Amino acid sequence: MALTCVCMSANVYVVCLQHALSTEKEEVMGLLIGEIDVDAKAKISAVVMLRRSDKSKDRVEISPEQLTAATIKAEELARTLGQPMRVLGWYHSHPHITVWPSHVDVQTQAMYQMMDQGFVGVIFSVFLEDKTTKEQEVQVTCFQSPSRMAEGSMTPDHYMDRVEIPLRIVTSTCLSQPCLQSMVELPEILVEEEDEVYQATKRLPYLNQLAQLHNSAVYTKSLCHIAEVVEGPLLNALEQRHASNLKKCEDLAHEMKQLTQALASLPPIKSA
Ligand SMILES: [Zn+2]
Repeated sequence: MALTCVCMSANVYVVCLQHALSTEKEEVMGLLIGEIDVDAKAKISAVVMLRRSDKSKDRVEISPEQLTAATIKAEELARTLGQPMRVLGWYHSHPHITVWPSHVDVQTQAMYQMMDQGFVGVIFSVFLEDKTTKEQEVQVTCFQSPSRMAEGSMTPDHYMDRVEIPLRIVTSTCLSQPCLQSMVELPEILVEEEDEVYQATKRLPYLNQLAQLHNSAVYTKSLCHIAEVVEGPLLNALEQRHASNLKKCEDLAHEMKQLTQALASLPPIKSA
């Protein structure tokens, strides 16, 4: 089944973008959760951000353990929301490069499509600058591999082929609980990644005191960087949202009071 369209909730778009913008040096990735309706339209409503086991510049991969954990999360969400949910696709970032999938991306996509024909790939290109306006740009693309390729009947020459899937961002009135959870998890994931690298340096043999001091300084600097560029702005944004929600509650309470007073001043309805 080829997809006709992908509808991504604005919540998911914000979470993916926040993840993509968290690092300028390496690609990040995650899994998309939702459901496919009878018209082959994929509706994406939640995200699982993935921790990177390999931080090289252009390398992104999903381990079987991560895929299993995401499947369990999708099942939990299905129970909470009372609607079918499963892992529908993957997303990754392209910092400083064009949004188009590389031949490795198209090949990876073909591999997932062999297991699930409705599987979809989304790429967020970030940290690009418009040459004329000098403004930061974000580009998004949604793609699948040609079905011939997923069936294994194509030569490597065709690997640059891709099928573009129309992507729609669906507005939402509030920040959903699963997406808020993912946003809050991001700094934790980044800290875990830094911690893993730092702990590995401690196991190195023959490290003199100066080298140890250097490593712990690099670790501290990385944690401060996460606090400055991810946690701080996130806390600010959530505090502002909280303040605006409180104001909205106050306005609605005031409106309700006025309507109740207006209702009380109406003459009683006479029954026939
Ligand atoms: Zn890529």
